[in-house]
Amino acid sequence: MHVLVLGAGQLARMMSLAGAPLNIEISAYDVGSETIVHPLTQTVLGKGLENAIAKADVITAEFEHIPHDILAICEQSGKFLPSAQAIKAGGDRRIEKTLLDDAGVRNAKYYVIQTREDFDLAIEHVGIPMVLKSALGGYDGKGQWRLKQLDQVEAIWAEMAACIAETETQAIVAEEFVPFSREVSLVGARGKDGSVAVYPLAENVHTDGVLSLSTAISDIELQQQANEMFTAVAETLDYVGVLALEFFDVDGALLVNEIAPRVHNSGHWTQQGAETCQFENHLRAVCGLPLGSTKLIRETSMINILGEDSVPNSVLEMAGCHIHWYGKEKRPGRKMGHINVCGDYSGELQRNLCALADVLDEQAFPAVHQFAASVLSDQ
Ligand code: ATP
Ligand code: MG
Repeated sequence: MHVLVLGAGQLARMMSLAGAPLNIEISAYDVGSETIVHPLTQTVLGKGLENAIAKADVITAEFEHIPHDILAICEQSGKFLPSAQAIKAGGDRRIEKTLLDDAGVRNAKYYVIQTREDFDLAIEHVGIPMVLKSALGGYDGKGQWRLKQLDQVEAIWAEMAACIAETETQAIVAEEFVPFSREVSLVGARGKDGSVAVYPLAENVHTDGVLSLSTAISDIELQQQANEMFTAVAETLDYVGVLALEFFDVDGALLVNEIAPRVHNSGHWTQQGAETCQFENHLRAVCGLPLGSTKLIRETSMINILGEDSVPNSVLEMAGCHIHWYGKEKRPGRKMGHINVCGDYSGELQRNLCALADVLDEQAFPAVHQFAASVLSDQ
């Protein structure tokens, strides 16, 4: 089987690593340069979308901000999974919100803004405080504003108007501010036959809008809610592949924040913590193979390595620690790799995370240090 991935970043790379034992070969299509590249070495293998499509048995995507003309060409080939509609829902908050409403899953109240008058209507409809998000192109908390008081309106409108003017189809989605106690996400797979396999929920910590620490958790009540919403969204889309749902946990009730129609950063823990990792299950789904078990095999956390191209070698010696580098050039804040850390007996994961806080730089890994500090203060 030959799978073409739209996008040539770390997710295509990890799909390639997971596909090899199943004889699934991955090539990556870099949408910007229009080249076909090897997902591990970035060696150029060819040029042009038509050429890439002709060589592939299946086409999938590792990101959602894909020009719609490219999606249309891929869909026309009959090889594209999950679907152009699913990718568009992940890339445009207007479509995403309509999808969530259609699927009947709880999400934050919202209003779409295109003009200054709309902004007033949004304040009336949604209320203050509110979170304002660009409909297109947002990721890692970029393209967002927080409106807390009415005297901020003109300054925020000036910035939003500039954002709207930049792209023809741009708009702003105003959302009620959700007073959540924590953020969790669900990664799961749906097969061609409609079978669904979901992983345990992950609890996510963000630092400056970027995921920094993600831990698989066991919570029967929350998991049940999340599973139902996952199935509702996946069935509405007739989805095939791995899909992620991000939630706000408001005192035990989940609201969907957003969806990602692809393998997800909060599912990287599955490489060491689950029977079958999310990358393998995505490939199994899109290739029409049976899904693998999503069972938790050991407690696991994932720590993102942001803007750093090295960590102390001692991490490699530490119990339960596994480093995954993405082979990328160092840039401030860039996702460079992650560390999966596991525990085999009760309390071991916590112990290993605290041991990591002793060797990882506090500025680069604030979430790990905060975790260790909270453990200390509980003792
Ligand atoms: P990514 O794609 O990296 O997950 P993003 O840029 O698409 O992020 P969101 O996930 O929508 O953006 O928002 C980023 C963060 O901002 C959320 O993880 C959450 O912490 C906060 N946030 C977003 N929407 C709201 C809301 N309505 N109320 C309160 N906080 C919010
Ligand atoms: Mg998000």
